Amino acid sequence: MLNHEQKVNRIIQQLKSRKGTSPVSLRKKTVSHEVPKMKDQRFFDEKIDVSDLDDIIKIDVESKICIAEPGVTFVDLVKATTKYNLVPIVVPELKTITIGGAISGCSIESMSYMYGGFHDNCLEYEIITAKGDLLICTPDNENSLIFEMAHGTFGTVGIISKIKFRLIEAKPFVKVIYQKFETLEEYKTAIWEHYERKDVDFMDGIIHSPSEYVLSIGNFVNEAPYTHNYNWMRIYYKDSKRRKEDYLKTIDYFFRYDKGVTNPTPKSFLGRLILGRFIGSTELLKLVKIFRRFIPERMIPITLDTFIPFSRATEFFQWYKKEINFFPLWCVPYKIRKKYEWLTDEFFDKTKDELFLDIAIYGMKNDHKESFYKMLEKELMEIGGIKTLISGNYYSESDFWKIWNKRNYDKVKQKTDPDNIFRDLYTKTCKTTRGVDY
Ligand SMILES: Cc1cc2nc3c(=O)[nH]c(=O)nc-3n(C[C@H](O)[C@H](O)[C@H](O)COP(=O)(O)OP(=O)(O)OC[C@H]3O[C@@H](n4cnc5c(N)ncnc54)[C@H](O)[C@@H]3O)c2cc1C
Repeated sequence: MLNHEQKVNRIIQQLKSRKGTSPVSLRKKTVSHEVPKMKDQRFFDEKIDVSDLDDIIKIDVESKICIAEPGVTFVDLVKATTKYNLVPIVVPELKTITIGGAISGCSIESMSYMYGGFHDNCLEYEIITAKGDLLICTPDNENSLIFEMAHGTFGTVGIISKIKFRLIEAKPFVKVIYQKFETLEEYKTAIWEHYERKDVDFMDGIIHSPSEYVLSIGNFVNEAPYTHNYNWMRIYYKDSKRRKEDYLKTIDYFFRYDKGVTNPTPKSFLGRLILGRFIGSTELLKLVKIFRRFIPERMIPITLDTFIPFSRATEFFQWYKKEINFFPLWCVPYKIRKKYEWLTDEFFDKTKDELFLDIAIYGMKNDHKESFYKMLEKELMEIGGIKTLISGNYYSESDFWKIWNKRNYDKVKQKTDPDNIFRDLYTKTCKTTRGVDY
């Protein structure tokens, strides 16, 4: 067993001993939660093995700060911190999403209406550059821009090797109340009121149809008259429609959507009875990775998070109903904690909102993905929205850099990866994953 320094040194040696500048990818222990793409060129990259970077180094109960390696999964983290009645701030809903992946990709959940993403609650990253230098990056030191740009740049500015982040106090159970609405305007009013009052620990919801909106508001509680979990036969999003309230153990609350948010697998009663206990998002993604050569691209359903400025939500929904009209949708209010360095001034000139709605389209079948994604990207650009880059991306390079901040990105890249071995963000997310890496 190597200690943290020894593991980091091993990675540094691998990087330093490389001769050429061909692209590299990371080898992790857990499955990737990017949407599987059959033509992804990264399958053929040389791998930098970071699979043993998966230890929790310290939980400081007094200061409520945790230090951990990036490969720690949220399920392991929650199991470890709840022993001290603490939890990470923002816990993505799938058990094996890692903390490094949540920072490099995206991370949202029902605490996001107050706290933004997991990265917004991080204090320090240790980052290994392409040339094997080790940097400590905080919001206030000489590497502050690297700290800020590590979020959402999909590992293209360096390898995160250690993370320091905040925890908050938790209780053993979560009580959820399902508020029901028939119109978008009533729904928006309820969301806004909770957002202003900050009166609940958790807020997300399901839009079952244009006339059926459920807002799930949750609070930590010490006692529960009963508890449910969603690890086998029960489907959380469906229960949100028929129930008025629910109690879950805290860990079961965090991973209530692990079998799929609005597209649980298996779907049928019999399928769930026989396989439901054993198959979750992790197993499904692993199977798709193993059999990717035999799975046609059209079999992979749409999995896409769109971030809509709250003030443009009504306009977006009118467009969405007319052009797409797929339901149910997952709705996660998300507070933009600051003017993020990874977004352009142009983006912030257009969009003044602090609150966004993450409208997640999960499970939609579509044979014409390219035109679907292009249509959505165009609409999002119109209304000052954004999407996560984990699924298909068809932005032109000039449109892409109207949203993502090239000036800040290039500054950081120059320092951390001048030979571009991690690829640049546009190439990696808009070309390489589609198999057009040139
Ligand atoms: C079906 C599905 C459902 C999802 N549901 C949710 C959800 O409910 N809530 C939520 O918040 N998110 C959700 N996501 C998105 C998910 O959080 C992000 O895709 C996240 O980036 C995945 O993290 P991972 O640990 O699987 O990392 P990976 O997918 O392995 O990596 C993501 C990117 O980060 C890079 N990376 C990983 N580790 C490091 C590191 N140590 N240093 C530098 N770069 C690194 C990788 O190179 C890659 O480009 C979902 C995704 C899918 C596909």
